[in-house]
Amino acid sequence: MNPNHFDYLVIGGGSAGYAAARTAREVVDRVAIVDGSEHLGGLCILKGCMPSKTLIYSAEVLHHAKQGSLLGLNIPEANVDMKLLHQRKVDTIKEFADYRVEGLESDRFTLFRNRAEFTRPTSIRLDDGRELTADKIMISTGSIVQVPPIPGLADLEGVWTSDDVLDLDFLPESVIVLGGGIVASELTQFLNRVGSKVTQIQRNEHILREVSPEASTVIENVFRNEGVELHTGTKILSISRTDECFEVTFEKDEKFIIKTAKHLFNALGRIPNTQSLNLEAAGIQLQETGHIKTGPFNQTDNPNVYAAGDVAGPVEIVHVAIVQGEAAAKHASGRKVREPSDWDFLGVIFTDPQIALAGKNEATLKAEGVDFVSADYPWDDHGKSILMEAKHGYVRVFADRTGKILGGEIVGKDAGELIHAFSVAISLNASVVDLLNAPWYHPTLSEMITYPLEEIAEELGLEF
Ligand SMILES: Cc1cc2nc3c(=O)[nH]c(=O)nc-3n(C[C@H](O)[C@H](O)[C@H](O)COP(=O)(O)OP(=O)(O)OC[C@H]3O[C@@H](n4cnc5c(N)ncnc54)[C@H](O)[C@@H]3O)c2cc1C
Repeated sequence: MNPNHFDYLVIGGGSAGYAAARTAREVVDRVAIVDGSEHLGGLCILKGCMPSKTLIYSAEVLHHAKQGSLLGLNIPEANVDMKLLHQRKVDTIKEFADYRVEGLESDRFTLFRNRAEFTRPTSIRLDDGRELTADKIMISTGSIVQVPPIPGLADLEGVWTSDDVLDLDFLPESVIVLGGGIVASELTQFLNRVGSKVTQIQRNEHILREVSPEASTVIENVFRNEGVELHTGTKILSISRTDECFEVTFEKDEKFIIKTAKHLFNALGRIPNTQSLNLEAAGIQLQETGHIKTGPFNQTDNPNVYAAGDVAGPVEIVHVAIVQGEAAAKHASGRKVREPSDWDFLGVIFTDPQIALAGKNEATLKAEGVDFVSADYPWDDHGKSILMEAKHGYVRVFADRTGKILGGEIVGKDAGELIHAFSVAISLNASVVDLLNAPWYHPTLSEMITYPLEEIAEELGLEF
């Protein structure tokens, strides 16, 4: 048997790659994982979802402690201890990473700690010169930080990425955040809540342009109330650096504005990590977005190679990376695969209040010409949210004229938890009446979902 030939080979052992390897190993024996990172575990565990949510949760608790008097509490002083916060993040993440490393290093797989590039359609070369071949290959090399061509940005030393922000063990005095996407906004609020002076600069009229203007407006108001200096509708012109600080010049409403801060955080997005893979040798094409071109089960143009996760897109969401990896590995071995999902089906933004979406939103329904009804309910008019002082946000429901639920949008405290009521309902083709016939406990935040459901049922003349 050729020791350098495998039934299935994965390049990149993050969320998508590990899911693919695990799934392939259910039916074939010789599965290889090639990962060239210094630390195994992938983006989500090491420098993405998990460290960010660990820090964001601490910052939320600190925020509540500082607002203690609102809840009748006397908390004389509440402050972050950045060294402790950092150590807690390190310890927490280590636990998750250790578990993943144990899986990757188990004798179920052959693990190569190398970088790889294609040499032929089903052959790769490792960075130590070894050549490996496989019947089927999965590309799951993730994404890297994008550096747009803003004068100064690429050349300056010391510009932070999210990796740096998630690894801070000191409190930055001041930070300029470039960008208004999900990572930019989640970490803007984190930095601001732990005590940095934060200026966020966004090109679009709203931050979080993937959500409705109503949703982003709620977050913008909260950010400004909490002390973030937020500039939207801007054009960044140049960035420079002195010994003391970074200086960002931008245009807004035909005026030139200069902002300075000790630190600069480039949060202008990520791009698919394909540059060093020599994809031409394998006959694999890219899309205009830079993602690898894939079919419904994540097949590339090469019939024996698949791509999943951030490198394939269309979204950078970890549960999508996992589902794609699993489905692709099943397809590669001719197993039955569930119809691919709508990858945009579920989204959560971990600002506070959170934004969470399931199914279709208003913009999509309008673009698709769907005849729909919608209703919403504000968080400042419900018992549980009032007693929790969680008054920012709303619940919105979209349904068709028969009452079938098409989408749910929740902006509010822990919306990312509450949205799963809609995720389940829409997945099961439930109607507003089906949901209204379910029991809802009082007093809960979930109960708020029933108010727009009732409004829609009444509008459509449906009995419940
Ligand atoms: C700050 C931040 C917060 C986030 N928060 C969330 C969140 O809350 N929820 C959510 O759903 N998503 C979140 N994401 C996105 C999520 O982390 C990613 O969508 C997901 O981790 C992508 O997984 P992947 O398997 O595609 O890639 P990765 O996990 O990045 O794995 C790619 C692997 O490939 C390896 N590799 C790369 N090139 C090569 C090569 N040539 N040879 C060998 N190995 C190679 C890398 O070393 C890496 O281990 C966040 C991202 C960031 C940056």
